[in-house]
Amino acid sequence: MNSPTHGRRAAPKPPASSRARAFGAGPRAARTSPDRTARSRSLRPAFSVIAMTFASGMLVATSVPALAITATDAEPRASVYAPVEDSITLAPQAIEVAHEAELKPMAVEGYAVEAAPPPLLSQVAGLGSVSIIKADLVVWPVLTPQKRSDGFGPRNAPCAGCSTSHDGVDFNPGNGSPVMSIADGVVVLATENGGGLGVNVEVQHNIDGELVTSSYAHMQFGSLQVVEGQRVSAGQQLGAVGTTGQSTGPHMHLEMFGADGVRFDGFAWLDDHIA
Ligand SMILES: [Zn+2]
Repeated sequence: MNSPTHGRRAAPKPPASSRARAFGAGPRAARTSPDRTARSRSLRPAFSVIAMTFASGMLVATSVPALAITATDAEPRASVYAPVEDSITLAPQAIEVAHEAELKPMAVEGYAVEAAPPPLLSQVAGLGSVSIIKADLVVWPVLTPQKRSDGFGPRNAPCAGCSTSHDGVDFNPGNGSPVMSIADGVVVLATENGGGLGVNVEVQHNIDGELVTSSYAHMQFGSLQVVEGQRVSAGQQLGAVGTTGQSTGPHMHLEMFGADGVRFDGFAWLDDHIA
């Protein structure tokens, strides 16, 4: 508040007469005094008003020491308060930033849109070509894949007319337990007259762009849950474990083959593809 630029409520200017005295303008002050006396006489009718103003002025003057009021003031004051000198100088505001903010354009991360590979097509009897969406999940076809009775490859024929080269893997999860699709795909065969394979379902999958077929055999009559041309998802039930066709007991015979139809070891493949 002592700043010269913020001199609000500065000390009031003393009256002109006292200023004149302070600067020692002797003769002039002496000359003006009689004039003022004469004027105050001519204003005598207004004296009572001035007196009242003076009385109230004294009241304020005692509580506001800086206020100076003289009884000889000729003109009645409109206000007894000291004139306020508005000498506020507003300095323009400035915001200081410690560090200059650095504006960097955000880098646009490039990305490449790869053209979708041509869809694989399954040929479904009565439906024609059915596209197969790429499967990204592979699951076991039975609940207890660790229970197996016969692996893939050469073997001693277990029955008269049974192949000496096993084209699939035999799982033994128990009679009536669910048989599930190993991945998303399209059912290309669903029959109860699969010959040696008995009640049989074939599902075609798009595995990394390669056509892979899984075949589930020996299921129970009346257990099929799907029809040809139907899209299935990984783990979706196809039927129930049975012993239809050329079978010596309830088990699920799984065959797997590629576009060339050549069978491969389904258990090894599944073990490799299941996370
Ligand atoms: Zn088998």
